Amino acid sequence: MHPERIRIVLVNTSHPGNIGGTARAMKNMGLSRLYLVQPKRFPHEEADWRAASAQDLLETAVVTDSLEAAVGDCQFVVGTSARERRIPWPLLDARQCAQRIAALPPSEEVAILFGREDRGLTNDELKICNLHLNIPTSDTYSSLNLAMAVQIVAYELRMVSTAPDTPVQEDAQWDSPFATRDNMERFYQHLEETLVDLEFLDPAAPRQLMTRLRRLYSRVRLDEMELNILRGILTEAQKWVARARKTPD
Ligand code: SAH
Repeated sequence: MHPERIRIVLVNTSHPGNIGGTARAMKNMGLSRLYLVQPKRFPHEEADWRAASAQDLLETAVVTDSLEAAVGDCQFVVGTSARERRIPWPLLDARQCAQRIAALPPSEEVAILFGREDRGLTNDELKICNLHLNIPTSDTYSSLNLAMAVQIVAYELRMVSTAPDTPVQEDAQWDSPFATRDNMERFYQHLEETLVDLEFLDPAAPRQLMTRLRRLYSRVRLDEMELNILRGILTEAQKWVARARKTPD
């Protein structure tokens, strides 16, 4: 486990106190990389108070104006959520998720996303994730305070990183790096364009096709080589469609 490869990403946070509380929770557990996507109020004295001796994390926090800018270079993205979604995604609790992260190749950049206090992460934001993390709660109240959710996830990461038998690294010997978020997004765009060209996807009635394909590819995880092969196939398919359209028969 390499805590320096893990970034905690807070999306559109309203309350500066939660940003400070997150910094403290992270530093207590040995995490240091905080990313803030369009925070409503930051920097703010309330964030400083709540951070206590973790103000250095606020000073080095990376503020971005889009989620893509915060996670584009990551190979593995986890989205946290208090609710179940319409299309189920691979879902783990914080402990299982920490083990999964510990089993990733050590060179991988990992992001864990936390949502807005009032409405969490949007479906589109959850769709870019390789897996979803839910902290099991009582049925009557499932939504934790944001900084407390970060605390629990950071604690489980700490426990797995200090455990004597860290999980086996299944992908450690892989011959090509896993694709980054940015390259996966380019692939999904290309795939969607090609499916429209092939008239397999009707842009007027897309249904859940792209969501289901995203889920498929997030589950297997493409490496850069596999991604290039698939892009090559898409390009050829597009050429065939263009040729077929020119010759009426
Ligand atoms: N009403 C929102 C809750 C937002 S709580 C919703 O239904 O999603 C703010 C953030 O804290 C969430 O976006 C998530 O990142 C985290 N969080 C809160 N409770 C959680 C839980 N039980 N499991 C995982 N993350 C949780």
